[in-house]
Amino acid sequence: MHSTTQPVTVIGLGPMGQAMAGAFLDRGYEVTLWNRTASRADDLVARGAMLAPTVEKALAANELVVLSLTDYDAVYALLEPAEAALAGRVLVNLSSDTPEKARAAARWAAERGAVQLTGGVTVPPSGIGRPESSTFYSGPREVYDRHRPALRAITGRSDYRGEDAGLAALMYQIGMVMFWTSMLSYWQAVALADANGLKAADILPHAVETANSLPGFFAFYAERIDAGVHTGDVDRLAMGLASVEHVLHTNADAGVDTALPAAVAELFRRGMDAGHATDSFSSVVELLKKPDA
Ligand code: NDP
Repeated sequence: MHSTTQPVTVIGLGPMGQAMAGAFLDRGYEVTLWNRTASRADDLVARGAMLAPTVEKALAANELVVLSLTDYDAVYALLEPAEAALAGRVLVNLSSDTPEKARAAARWAAERGAVQLTGGVTVPPSGIGRPESSTFYSGPREVYDRHRPALRAITGRSDYRGEDAGLAALMYQIGMVMFWTSMLSYWQAVALADANGLKAADILPHAVETANSLPGFFAFYAERIDAGVHTGDVDRLAMGLASVEHVLHTNADAGVDTALPAAVAELFRRGMDAGHATDSFSSVVELLKKPDA
């Protein structure tokens, strides 16, 4: 434990906020808490944190205020009635939402004399406080630099994306679109395996190997996509569609839900209709960029 000169307020004690407050306590920070359901603070108070009786008092306690709420609607629900206490606060808003909402909240905070530093944490609660974990930040550079030592308690690494309050939220959402759809592809694989008498554990090594092959594809296609090249020298969309249809039929034959493979097949068919049959399946990205074209 070491003492620090910068006390911190944490508002929002879901699994993430609790882990963050715990990480500050571990490092000897003086921590003030507030949560709608006060009992979630019990363990942290037992470890030395102070529970503020109101949001106003939690805001008034410290310049640095970490917000870890479900979304920005929850942020407004809490801060609007307490807005008189916002002036001079630095709101490190680690609640996830859209880039537009992050920008609007930064303006809203500025109108009340506060500064928002938007954050997007890339790890679950178990990764909070760890040196290898990382968070995206955006907002005023000077504020980020000044509070960097305290932010390091949340995740050891961070990636500052720029002054625009929306950028950290954007990077977070880019990660999440990949996370949710990738995990859904895994659930699909598990369901297909189950329909054929295989347990999740039976396919785990194959699933891991398949997932581990993806970064090589990302790197290969990133360069070509940025160069606007979709040459069908390595793969062709027509082959991709035939393969996806095999996937679709394998799932249908097993009596498994086909919504996910059907959606992939539909996108590939649209690419074919747009004349990309002999291009790489990376050409689908052009459809995604301009769905109405
Ligand atoms: P939860 O949704 O479990 O909890 C967030 C907090 O928001 C709770 O303290 C809850 O209060 C509060 N809250 C929600 N709605 C309101 C409201 N209307 N008024 C007052 N308080 C409200 O979220 P997590 O702790 O899991 O995550 C926090 C944020 O971090 C989210 O935006 C999430 O997307 C993001 N995130 C989460 C990760 C994870 O693995 N969990 C990973 C990376 C980011 P109460 O306790 O009273 O219900």
